[in-house]
Amino acid sequence: MPQLADRVALVTGAASGIGAACAEALAREGAHVVLTDLDAARGEALAARLRGAGRAAEFLPQDVTDEARWAEIVAAIEARRRRLDILVANAGIGIIAPAVEISLADWRRQMAVNVEGVFLGVKHCIPAMRRGGRGGAIVIMSSVAGLRGSAGLSCYAATKAAVRYFAKSVALECAEARDGIRVNTVHPGIIATPIWEKLPAGAGGRNAPLDPQRLAAAGVPLGEAGRPEDIAGGVVFLCSDAARHMTGAELVMDGGMTAG
Ligand code: NAD
Repeated sequence: MPQLADRVALVTGAASGIGAACAEALAREGAHVVLTDLDAARGEALAARLRGAGRAAEFLPQDVTDEARWAEIVAAIEARRRRLDILVANAGIGIIAPAVEISLADWRRQMAVNVEGVFLGVKHCIPAMRRGGRGGAIVIMSSVAGLRGSAGLSCYAATKAAVRYFAKSVALECAEARDGIRVNTVHPGIIATPIWEKLPAGAGGRNAPLDPQRLAAAGVPLGEAGRPEDIAGGVVFLCSDAARHMTGAELVMDGGMTAG
C-alpha cells in the first residue's frame, strides 16, 4: 500500500537533483505531485516521464522569489486538486567564494532564493493546508552548512541556518494552532547533483567545476557522495504518517560529516 495515497504534494526546484528525486519518490508512494522550477523544459520532461510511468504528476513554472506566482500556484492546485497536503521547499542556489569576495548582489540572490523563497512557500501553503482540514507536512531543504560553518560558503551557510530556525518556529506556531501541520528540515551533506557545477559561478578566479565524489572521498566518513534518492527517502519518511510525532526536527543525511 503506497504511503502517500490521496496526498497532494508540491515540490520546488523539482527539475534537477534532489528535488527531482523527491518528486519521483513522492509520486511512487501514491501522491499527486506538482513539480515547480525555473527550468520549464526539464520540469515538463520529468513530469511527462512520471506520467508515462503511471504516476500522477504535473509541472508548473515558478520562480520561488515571486510572491504573486506563489499565490497563483496554490490557487491552481486548490482549484484542480481541492487540497494541498505536502510542501517540499527544496529550490536553492549557492555561490562559492570567501565572504570578502561576495558581491552584495550575489548575497541578496542567495538570500532571496534560499530564505525568502522558503518563507513565501510556507506563508502561502499553510493556509491551503488548513483549508484542507487534514493537516500537512512541510519539509525544508537545509544543509550540513546550516548546522556548522563552511569556509567558502558563508552566505549559503547563513541562508541554510536561517531556514533551520524559521522551520522550528513555524513548527511551534502550527503545533499551537493544533492544525496538524508538521514542519521539519533535512540536512544533506555532499550529494552528487548539478549544483556542484554551478557553485563556483561567483568565485573570484576560482571557477573550476567541483567534483562531489572527490570532495566526498576526503570529507565524508562513509567515503562517497550521497545520491539524490538517498535524500528523497528521508523526505518521504518526513511526509508520511510514520513521522507523525516529528515536528521542528532536523533529519541529518550527511554520511557522517557532522558526527565527529
Ligand atoms: P540542483 O542545482 O541540481 O537543483 C536545484 C533546482 O532549483 C534547479 O532545478 C533550479 O532550476 C531550481 N531553482 C533555482 N533557483 C530557483 C528559483 N528561484 N525558483 C525555482 N526554482 C529554482 O541542486 P540540488 O543539489 O538538487 O539542490 C537542491 C537543494 O538541496 C538546494 O536547496 C540545496 O541547497 C540543497 N542541498 C544540496 C546539497 C548537495 O550536495 N547537492 C547539499 C546540501 C543541501
